[in-house]
Amino acid sequence: MPTREEYWEALQARICVRCLDGSGDGNCRIAGDGFCAMKEYLPAIVDAINSVYSHSIVPYEEQLRKHVCGSCTHQSANGNCSLRDEVDCALDRYFPLIVEVIEETRKRSHIAASR
Ligand code: SF4
Ligand code: SF4
Repeated sequence: MPTREEYWEALQARICVRCLDGSGDGNCRIAGDGFCAMKEYLPAIVDAINSVYSHSIVPYEEQLRKHVCGSCTHQSANGNCSLRDEVDCALDRYFPLIVEVIEETRKRSHIAASR
């Protein structure tokens, strides 16, 4: 399995470069203590995505809501999230692409290990 750093490097290369909160070169414009759910919850995100195998995004989103949003400080007790409502959560905004990157990274690592 890839390490946390390998997952993060792959995400930076594919997500941070296009993120509205990034500088366009993979760096983040949010200050050090700023919140990015993709960074904050990476291990839980990887586990949630790796627990699903589907051509549909729906079961991935269900796992995300249950295992990540359900523990996130930004989600209220009734399941609402103001960041999500305002398209201000990078994890939610780029989730389909994040699923793709995590799965590709896992497959690459699996192929490298079997050589
Ligand atoms: S907000 Fe998150 S996803 Fe966007 S550039 Fe910063 S670290 Fe990357
Ligand atoms: S959508 Fe909201 S509750 Fe879910 S991870 Fe993002 S900020 Fe947290």
